[in-house]
Amino acid sequence: MKLRITAVFATLMFSLASRAWGASESPPAGTSVHAFIDVTCAEDFKDYALKSRATVSEWYPRINEILSGPDHALPFDTIAILFEPGLRVPALTNGNVIRADCNYIKVMPDDYRAMIIHELTHVVQHYRGAPSNASWIVESIADYVRHKYFEKDIQETLRLQQNGVLSHYTNKEPYFLSLQNGGTSLDDQGYLKSYTVGATFLFWLEKHKDPQIVQKLNLALSQGTYATNLFRDWCGIALDDLWTEFVTQSKSKQS
Ligand SMILES: [Zn+2]
Repeated sequence: MKLRITAVFATLMFSLASRAWGASESPPAGTSVHAFIDVTCAEDFKDYALKSRATVSEWYPRINEILSGPDHALPFDTIAILFEPGLRVPALTNGNVIRADCNYIKVMPDDYRAMIIHELTHVVQHYRGAPSNASWIVESIADYVRHKYFEKDIQETLRLQQNGVLSHYTNKEPYFLSLQNGGTSLDDQGYLKSYTVGATFLFWLEKHKDPQIVQKLNLALSQGTYATNLFRDWCGIALDDLWTEFVTQSKSKQS
């Protein structure tokens, strides 16, 4: 049975991959999106899991517009969400296939759809190999979309102590809490911690330096033209200096 399911998944993933649109044959903006949801391992919360179909229909085109504007074609016309056991991570995305750990979703305290928004952003990003010095941006954009537009709880600064360690975060913000409990100082290139740290930084940059920073970063990563110097071109000072200014403002709000 297990082998058979694996074979079905493999066939499905192949057929979905073969239905992905190449750069030269992208479906026009506004094309309806097909969402395939596999809930084989999620029988006891099937109705809850199937809500992700509506999430895809609403948010996949919306995230595409947030990052690339209204006239940009969707990278795929079909998205699959496969609920699987034993993934070892809560979720991951490869092309147009999102895999989510059904055991994790059963115990996670929050609405799992926020996690799906993060993964859907990766489907939209579809960068075909971002440089390693930009991997923090890829994850930060995914959390920026999740927290600014879906959860609507993004903050403009971090809650930082004078030693650069986060403070006053709770288990409602698990990534912040893990850095806080680990005593990690964010003073030096803390943006490399990515995820919600990077998302907060991007939101601060958008508010104070360049309102189009996220869209510009997305375009540069899509076109393979990203370089760290772009921060200086767009915001007037180098990336590390922008981070220092952000950290200083975050600390001043705490004192
Ligand atoms: Zn991610």
